[in-house]
Amino acid sequence: MAVQPKQNLSMDSASEHGFLHFYFAMPEKPDTTVRLFDRNEYYTVHGKDAVFAAKEVFKTNGVIKNLGSGSKRLESVVLSKMNFESFVRDLLLVRQYRVEVYRNKGSSKEHDWQLTYKASPGNLTQFEEILFGGGSGPGAAAAGVVGVRLGSGDGQRMVGVGYVDSTLRNLGVCEFPDNDQFSNLEALLVQIGPKECVLPGGDGAGEMGKLRQVVQRGGILLSDRKKAEFNTKDVVQDLNRLLRARKGETVSSAALPEMEKQVAMSSLAAVIKYLELLSDEANFGSFKLMTFDLSQYMRLDNAAVQALNLFQGSPDDTTGTHSLAGLLNKCRTPQGQRLVNQWIKQPLMDRNKIEERLDLVESFVDDAELRQICQEDLLRRFPDLNRLAKKFQRQSSTLQDCYRVYQAVGQLPGLVGALEGHSGKHLVLLNAVFVSPLKDLDADFAKYQEMIETTLDMNQIEHHEFLVKPSFDPTLSELRENMDGLEKTMQGVLKAAAHELGLEGGKTVKLESNAQLGYFLRVTCKEEKNLRNNKKFTTLDVQKNGVRFTNSKLSSLNEEYTKNREEYEEAQNAIVKEILTIASGYVEPLQMLNDVIAQLDVVVSLALVSHSAPVPYARPKVLERGSGRLVLKGARHPCIEAQDDVAFIPNDVTFARGEEMFHIITGPNMGGKSTYIRQVGVIVLMAQMGCFVPCDEAEISVVDSVLARVGAGDSQIKGVSTFMAEMLETAAILRSATEDSLIIIDELGRGTSTYDGFGLAWAISEFIATRTKSFCLFATHFHELTALAQQIPTVRNLHVTALTTDSTLTMLYKVKKGVCDQSFGIHVAELAHFPKHVIASAREKALELEEFQDVTQAGEEGGDEGPEVKRRCLDRQEGEKIIEGFLAKVKAIPATDMSDQAIQEELRKLKAEVLAQNNRFVNEIVSRSTNTA
Ligand code: ADP
Repeated sequence: MAVQPKQNLSMDSASEHGFLHFYFAMPEKPDTTVRLFDRNEYYTVHGKDAVFAAKEVFKTNGVIKNLGSGSKRLESVVLSKMNFESFVRDLLLVRQYRVEVYRNKGSSKEHDWQLTYKASPGNLTQFEEILFGGGSGPGAAAAGVVGVRLGSGDGQRMVGVGYVDSTLRNLGVCEFPDNDQFSNLEALLVQIGPKECVLPGGDGAGEMGKLRQVVQRGGILLSDRKKAEFNTKDVVQDLNRLLRARKGETVSSAALPEMEKQVAMSSLAAVIKYLELLSDEANFGSFKLMTFDLSQYMRLDNAAVQALNLFQGSPDDTTGTHSLAGLLNKCRTPQGQRLVNQWIKQPLMDRNKIEERLDLVESFVDDAELRQICQEDLLRRFPDLNRLAKKFQRQSSTLQDCYRVYQAVGQLPGLVGALEGHSGKHLVLLNAVFVSPLKDLDADFAKYQEMIETTLDMNQIEHHEFLVKPSFDPTLSELRENMDGLEKTMQGVLKAAAHELGLEGGKTVKLESNAQLGYFLRVTCKEEKNLRNNKKFTTLDVQKNGVRFTNSKLSSLNEEYTKNREEYEEAQNAIVKEILTIASGYVEPLQMLNDVIAQLDVVVSLALVSHSAPVPYARPKVLERGSGRLVLKGARHPCIEAQDDVAFIPNDVTFARGEEMFHIITGPNMGGKSTYIRQVGVIVLMAQMGCFVPCDEAEISVVDSVLARVGAGDSQIKGVSTFMAEMLETAAILRSATEDSLIIIDELGRGTSTYDGFGLAWAISEFIATRTKSFCLFATHFHELTALAQQIPTVRNLHVTALTTDSTLTMLYKVKKGVCDQSFGIHVAELAHFPKHVIASAREKALELEEFQDVTQAGEEGGDEGPEVKRRCLDRQEGEKIIEGFLAKVKAIPATDMSDQAIQEELRKLKAEVLAQNNRFVNEIVSRSTNTA
């Protein structure tokens, strides 16, 4: 919980009245925009935002104060600067809300509040310092905004997407036909992973309504813009300004091939306006434009992203299961962390590129020493070079930033040396991808390094002061001399104070300085009592690490020092400007360095994960797309096997075109069905991003997409019509699959009207198995579905195994061929949430069935009971069928809509039907169970 702020919202009544007047006249806003008011020392939020902030920041409504009264009453909460920063960070990075900050430009009474900063999840530029000031952290993820518009071409629905990634300075366009479920758009949004989407406003019905759903399903914030902003009128002119010209080349955007994509261009125009890219000159000449090719990466739908648990879910998600990103991201640099997430969203399709990544990863898997030194030592010395490059570009960098780049470049020879020491089989590749670009970059920066060495005062850097060398200018030398003199005198003050307090100077009492206070003395809290009653000293503040204090002599020396320092900074200003101008010429190589380091970081991270897993991963054998083989031996789910308390049971899977392409997996609830089918998806995805896989052996044909359908656990509440709609949608989406797709279907139609659900499950399965012929894994409780295998030769049945002893069920998690045993019906009933007693009686029967099975088997072994055994066997076979039919009927009882009594009645009827068949085996069981009851 945050500490409650000391500040009070103090306003005289005139001022309060003025503010209220202003506040209530503001235009309406959605709840996903939070308005903050900058009041110099602190910030305030009001109305709904205040209630929200109270809950989020302080976890109590006690901090809410009211301004005004009656209908003009306004909830208000005060935020300290620190509260403000963490609140804004949470809003933008976690919640993905918009933020607006207002400041009063008038006098305290006048209330001329104006919007001074704003940001949205896709556009963080104005808040960068607050958000990422602390350096890396997971928050430094890529941000981006897309615009989407619909058009028509060749009589088809065309989707035009334009996007801007202001972190990487990319502009992109993409235009494609789409079905009425917008599956292509969905796949594209997964691949580029924007935080925000602008749409032409006012159009929520029909296909635009569907489009909105698709966008929101991906957790992307929607922002409505005027339709008029989606036009290409100014876009050529805008692009001429924004695009980076190649050396010696003048771009004329009008001639770019991208211009042909008119629908996409109009979307891009809207995003450019939304982000106000043209209002910041630093953006000019700094962007790249490209066409995004939807088919270069594996397509994933949102359901697959969730089913495969690629990224951490909502912040409230406390299940603690690792996401794939969490597992694979052992990166040491922010740029590496951004890139690994991108690789996960963009698994490759080109086999050569996949092999190249695998070669790189293999190099670091095999070379433990190199992997270790990169991971533990070399990589983390590189700061977020992309962020620094952006600051260089804007010339908003400081001398400290320049020094950080200097330090980073200084690491290159060491890194190159380490990489050159490698002698594995992919030496040539390693050279081409890392060593030689790094060497070139090192050479490119030679002049830069020289400049920093000649201009920066390296002596002061030890004290965290970033200043120009005094020798540059006589004024600077003079000021430096003064400052050195003052510091000496202050050391004298320390000595005297130590004597006075009976402490040891430099040990128990220290002279220190920082940016806010300048020079001060500090004792640890333990020594604080020596200070307490001494009137000669003034306490500045009390902190965890001690009490900071001063006396009159020190404070006047400090004042003088500060004055000198300010003059120094002023005198060095012109030189600093010069340095920053030169530095801004290094944006391009800095960006390149960023990219090489990021790639190295990810490769090392993947190698580390592959090597250090509970069972080391294996390099997959990747086959060309269309090869129609997918064979995994000893496959595990990488995220579940990584959990501490799990001893994971590996399983195999085999797909071969024309032979076995569709696996139906049945078995008890919690038996490992989901895990099994999902691990196949995760493994294929990992292979195509170029990572080793959690298998003993893996042979993987490149797939063009992983599509998933996972029955929502809450489908029972939703009602049948919603369920049907979802199923129809499923069918439509699956139609976008090809024979090179991998489809994962889990618990489709759970707990809903059995016949409808089953009919659809059957139809969908048949369609996939005979028409699309994709690789498909289908986990289901529809036991009847297993009959499909008798009709279609490429359909196979698998089941997860369990041991039944007494009334407990032990899961073995081993996947075996064939259909699972009879007691399955019970678990179906459990799935369908039957009343307990129904399940209990069914369980009893099944148990007896098993007992009897043992008896007959024993008999068979004995071999001389002859015809009697045979007859019993026949009885049993027939009896099993009868029981099976009984269980199926039990299952079909719409139990959720019936009273217990009605169910009992129904069961009695069914039982009577069973007895009427007069089967000896059945009658025996039934009479036994009635006797015991
Ligand atoms: P189902 O889909 O059949 O209901 P799940 O796949 O959800 O079952 O598995 C239930 C739990 O069993 C998982 O959360 C996991 O902890 C454990 N589990 C699943 N598969 C395995 C396995 N192969 N080895 C070990 N534990 C497993």
